[in-house]
Formats: sequence, C-alpha cells, structure tokens
Amino acid sequence: MVKCTECDAEIKVPSDSLVGEIVTCSDCGASYELIKVEEGFSIKPAQVVGEDWGQ
Ligand SMILES: [Zn+2]
Repeated sequence: MVKCTECDAEIKVPSDSLVGEIVTCSDCGASYELIKVEEGFSIKPAQVVGEDWGQ
C-alpha cells in the first residue's frame, strides 16, 4: 500500500505488481509508476501522455 502524493489516499499495489507498472489513484485519478524500494514498492509521478515536450 502506498499513499497518493496528490490527495493522500491509499493506493493498493498488488504484491505481484512489477516495477514500472502504472497505478492510478482511485480518488483523484493521478497516475504513478511503481518503483522498487527496500521496504517493497514506492511510487513516482508517471509521465503524462501528451505532455508538451518543448519541441
Ligand atoms: Zn489521489
């Protein structure tokens, strides 16, 4: 279980999840990418598709 950095809601992370998988907060809809940490999983904000890359 990790906490959404946007709204502090708990996001369920299945134990068979893989690093790099995208999880979505069911409360605010924010997307995060799973990263591996010592205690298990953590999250970082996922790259938003369609973001302006500054071309
Ligand atoms: Zn949230």
